Amino acid sequence: MAAALTARGVRPGDRVALHLPNVPEFPIAYFGILKAGGVVVPLNVLLRAPEIAFQLADSGAKLLLTWSAFAGDAAKGAAEAGVTECYAAGPPADHPLRPFADLTTPISAAFPLADRQPQDVAAIVYTSGTTGQPKGAELTNFQLYMNADIPGRLFELRPDDVVIAVLPLFHVFGMSSTMNVGIRFGAALSLVPRFTPEAVLGAIARDRATIFDGVPTMFTALLAQPDDGRYDTSSLRVCISGGDAIPAQVLDAFERRYRVPILEGYGMTETAATISFNVSEQDRRAYSVGRPVWGVEAQVWDGDGRRLPPGPGNVGEIVTRGYHTMRGYHGHPAATAEAFAGGWFHTGDLGYFDDDGYLFIVDRKKELIIRGGYNVYPREVEEVLHRHPGVLTAAVIGVPDERLGEEVKAFVVPRPGTALSAAEVIGYCRDRLASYKYPRLVELRASLPLSGAGKVLKKELR
Ligand code: ATP
Ligand code: MG
Repeated sequence: MAAALTARGVRPGDRVALHLPNVPEFPIAYFGILKAGGVVVPLNVLLRAPEIAFQLADSGAKLLLTWSAFAGDAAKGAAEAGVTECYAAGPPADHPLRPFADLTTPISAAFPLADRQPQDVAAIVYTSGTTGQPKGAELTNFQLYMNADIPGRLFELRPDDVVIAVLPLFHVFGMSSTMNVGIRFGAALSLVPRFTPEAVLGAIARDRATIFDGVPTMFTALLAQPDDGRYDTSSLRVCISGGDAIPAQVLDAFERRYRVPILEGYGMTETAATISFNVSEQDRRAYSVGRPVWGVEAQVWDGDGRRLPPGPGNVGEIVTRGYHTMRGYHGHPAATAEAFAGGWFHTGDLGYFDDDGYLFIVDRKKELIIRGGYNVYPREVEEVLHRHPGVLTAAVIGVPDERLGEEVKAFVVPRPGTALSAAEVIGYCRDRLASYKYPRLVELRASLPLSGAGKVLKKELR
């Protein structure tokens, strides 16, 4: 792969876009690009032509590798961005792109590793776009290496582990914490191209998987599966949840049902990915995202940049520094300078530490609802909603209100087969939350809008 890319003019520092689902071609291309000295630009496979064009142009990609089923949008996006070298892997389909196989025909057995330095950019990975336009985070070789090495060691990953890779490899969680960690320690990856509960359960049973990494919406969906013993999941030793808050009720019910611990971690694209982690079942603290991992510092600051002491009353912005942070937002020096103000990376997340150094996430700064002068954290309301037996999943946002500034609104997906009304949901919350917190507005829906990585897209709900 590296030789083929080099033969097509890819030089150290050139960007190569990777627009593939979780198929073997993804890791082959990923490591081939790096070996040639190129910069990997993973693209979300759900993007449509104009979005592809934006990320190709924004990252300055020179070559695009895509998948035949997405070749229509990819070809249009590439044409718009002026990218002419395009290859598509996957089953034959009617598209104008060259076959991926052209790149994997052996050229030479030996390929000299390109001369790249630890601080050079290895990948430009776009954030999820949960709060706005996705930003391209420049991740370095050193950052990516350490983010595979340290979490894998803490976790005691072994060559006989089999890791379910259903988190998209184009997103930092799947790329760093699943693929890179797995490959660093010689584990096997069981690639699942598209999440469905059956596909994951089937892969666990078939491949005797030992580890499952997921986002909370996946655990919720697995929990909603009939408990009929159809799939043998007894090979699992641990599940890892990250990317979003996992409701306490979902975590507890999943552990009871599947008899496997869920260890929660916290990270983001800019930190590729891990900031903190509950490293083992013995060591964890319930509903916490664990302690900062080795070599990573994290603190909680107030609005004036002063460090706050531990305690649930001391909620502030989480800031972090260490080997794990990005070089910057690609092409956005002002946003980069702002994010690193004071020498620490500002996560935009609110949280607090307990006395033993465990971190608790409260919510995103941008999600905080101010209703009539009172602070409402959507996550607290979501926790209550998830405890209602008729609620499958829920998301809470603030909506503009003339009198109060903002009003609390809940989107609720009822559990299949239950008759749930908005009035009942409101009543349930009113009995359990202070009057300024409970949602006055409840909308029942069949599903919530999800990002390519399976995270709830609140900007779309808004
Ligand atoms: P964008 O930055 O484009 O708005 P995003 O922040 O969702 O999108 P990601 O980098 O995929 O993009 O997600 C990182 C964010 O996910 C964190 O900043 C945090 O808000 C949230 N997150 C990650 N892990 C957890 C967790 N365990 N609990 C709560 N929130 C989490
Ligand atoms: Mg973000």
